[in-house]
Amino acid sequence: MCIFCKIVKKELPSNVVLENDKFLAFHDINPKAPVHILAIPKAHVDSFDEVSSQTMAGMTDFIQEVVKEVKIQKSGYRVVTNIGENGAQEVPHLHFHILGGAKLKWDHFSDADPKGHF
Ligand code: 5GP
Ligand code: ZN
Repeated sequence: MCIFCKIVKKELPSNVVLENDKFLAFHDINPKAPVHILAIPKAHVDSFDEVSSQTMAGMTDFIQEVVKEVKIQKSGYRVVTNIGENGAQEVPHLHFHILGGAKLKWDHFSDADPKGHF
């Protein structure tokens, strides 16, 4: 069972922000911004690449609830999901990073030449 499935089953502790029958949001253990929350579907899905549009519809509503709950809706925030090796995904259970609480940087994501591919 993956680490986030264990968090869903409460076999591992987490600092829960919001939860319903299908989704869970909890604080990232290693925050990269003053607000850094992970939102996940409770049912295991490997990544965004595998997720159904039906689950994503619910996830959209859930993320919008989370940002209201932690009061970053008006100040702005970022939603990121990493996919696979080049996406730097470490935990193989779909999760959306919700980042905010301060002005975020927007910079190069790779040391490779960004004009090198197309
Ligand atoms: P990824 O690189 O897969 O997109 O991000 C995984 C995220 O999960 C990282 O930001 C990491 O800090 C977080 N993380 C990994 N293990 C745990 C854990 O056991 N608890 C919590 N709350 N966050 C975790
Ligand atoms: Zn899982």
